[in-house]
Amino acid sequence: MIKYSPEIAKVTDPLFEKVKNVIPSVEWPIMAPLIYRINELKTEKNAVVLAHNYQTPDIYHCVADFVGDSLQLAMQAQQIDADIIVQAGVHFMAETSKLLSPDKTVLIPSLDAGCSLAASITGEDVRQLKRKYPGVPVVTYVNTSAGVKAEADLCCTSANAIAVVEAFGVDRVILLPDEFLSKNVAGQTDVEIIAWKGRCEVHERFTAEELRQYRKSSPGISILAHPECSPEVLEEADFAGSTSSLIRYVNVNRPPKVMMVTECSMSDNVSAEIGEDVEFIRPCNLCPHMKTINLQNIIESLELIRYEVTIPEDISSRARQAVQGMIDLEVEGKDFEQRSVLRSVVVEDRLSLSHLDTVSQ
Ligand code: SF4
Repeated sequence: MIKYSPEIAKVTDPLFEKVKNVIPSVEWPIMAPLIYRINELKTEKNAVVLAHNYQTPDIYHCVADFVGDSLQLAMQAQQIDADIIVQAGVHFMAETSKLLSPDKTVLIPSLDAGCSLAASITGEDVRQLKRKYPGVPVVTYVNTSAGVKAEADLCCTSANAIAVVEAFGVDRVILLPDEFLSKNVAGQTDVEIIAWKGRCEVHERFTAEELRQYRKSSPGISILAHPECSPEVLEEADFAGSTSSLIRYVNVNRPPKVMMVTECSMSDNVSAEIGEDVEFIRPCNLCPHMKTINLQNIIESLELIRYEVTIPEDISSRARQAVQGMIDLEVEGKDFEQRSVLRSVVVEDRLSLSHLDTVSQ
């Protein structure tokens, strides 16, 4: 373990300047040697760190080479001239990077970096849905395993979900696996949506009542919500969009007081950059999966080339088509407009599909 020294202080002080509003100075002598070591290892191994917006500020601002939402990161991965990618995010993100950069070594620093949404559905579930709804196009959110993507016609992100669903030019589309995202998309399009009962364990916890309480206690607050929250929460928000849209909204509008209704670290990361004229109110819902990634296991991942992500060829070729097909569509991202119409959406789950097993036996 390297100790904090004048040399490390000299190299890392400019990094601390970036995060001093969100990382207490007493913690820096512990973090700085780890940050120093990661940056040294990246050069030695020709590696890059891709960090999701929900990573903690020490990773996001001090060791990441690229930051963004899951798709932005995977697209960066395609263009980077590096041998190794360390994904500071969760497993489906590392898989997406591997799909788009099959020749690079992709590492995930923790095997516990899963996702409740991705875990809610399997490739077999999608095959069952296709048996129930023959001919209906399947769109899977990027927050799914490669096995699920392999069964889809196209992937989508929260930024482009509305446009991807509409791109088929049909009346009905299966949109998986986030029930709330699907309901929110259904409220923005005339395409009938068939959903799956998956939830993000971070975003499902926010309630409209909680937001109303924040409005009362912080008059003038701008409330920005991620579309993995319930339709009732989006109704209560002033603006809704993907993580990148929320960041753009704050940068462009610079509201004096803002609450980002999404994973807690994102407010830290944006507030570290934006300056003190924007006050962040933080409803702190942390993603336990994202938080399994830390400076220490990034070091171990690079030193030991540990936890390489691999995808069987028969799955990766089909999953890549779904992701690349979405990229090739080049549809514009679309924010979620305030609409009071809550469309009824069929929400499928394993129980509702179980009779298909009996029929096919
Ligand atoms: S925030 Fe939600 S969707 Fe994102 S990784 Fe965590 S559980 Fe999954």
